[in-house]
Amino acid sequence: MTDVQCKSCLKILLSEGALIIHYDKSPLCRKWALQCALTPDELHEAVPTQTIQQLAMEYVRQAITGEKECECKFCHLSFATFEKHLAHYDASMICNRMAHREFKLRMKKIGDK
Ligand SMILES: [Zn+2]
Ligand SMILES: [Zn+2]
Repeated sequence: MTDVQCKSCLKILLSEGALIIHYDKSPLCRKWALQCALTPDELHEAVPTQTIQQLAMEYVRQAITGEKECECKFCHLSFATFEKHLAHYDASMICNRMAHREFKLRMKKIGDK
């Protein structure tokens, strides 16, 4: 007998019956599995290695960082830490506007993929 794996949370279960019980206990696992069956291309991707916050911050970083680490892509000021780099967009309205535009263009490209 082969083990059954919940494709949603990757838990190993002993049988198909155990999977059904698992789904009863974890309705979100069932929901994700059903959604994957309906729209496999969209949802049946590899398990993410980053948290949603790490992913979002990665996109923010790509949108605002210039050639060097912690350098504003728009005015080329450099900052000691990424937190100070982020705080710059509180202080500089025009860099913040440019950053919004850059971020939206990147999100649009990601959405078009
Ligand atoms: Zn599960
Ligand atoms: Zn700037």
